[in-house]
Amino acid sequence: MAQDCIFCRIAAGEIPSAKVYESETVLAFLDIAPVNAGHALVLPKAHYETLWDLPAELGEDLLRAVKSVADAVKVETGAQGLNLMQNNYEAAGQLVPHVHFHLIPRFDDDGLKLWPQKPYGDEAEMRQLAERIAARAK
Ligand code: 5GP
Ligand code: ZN
Repeated sequence: MAQDCIFCRIAAGEIPSAKVYESETVLAFLDIAPVNAGHALVLPKAHYETLWDLPAELGEDLLRAVKSVADAVKVETGAQGLNLMQNNYEAAGQLVPHVHFHLIPRFDDDGLKLWPQKPYGDEAEMRQLAERIAARAK
């Protein structure tokens, strides 16, 4: 447990949370400042900062929890859709450095937009970047 980590302190029961799921390895609770009511956070109980720090063997527990909590959030809020978000590092908007997945219920009329998109300079730029990423992702 990281003493200065708010999510470790929630996992240890030192700080209260609106818990919605718990297993031996995974915890989920409602975000205190939701995008929409029912916005939940799913995280490993153990402290890992980002996606890349997570041990692969936790992946199955996390994905099972994400799917189960996502289904429950969607049904109980009556949402028409749901966004799954996971921020890594400050540049991507990560405020709490304990890896977590955001489950955000979405409604046809909630007025939210997805992030803005932009084109590549040309197709060659996209293909070259794809080749470099593919070579490293093997
Ligand atoms: P991040 O920006 O790191 O991806 O998301 C962190 C989330 O944690 C934010 O949406 C924020 O509202 C939520 N959060 C921060 N502190 C607390 C807390 O003490 N309790 C709960 N339930 N959520 C928190
Ligand atoms: Zn932590």
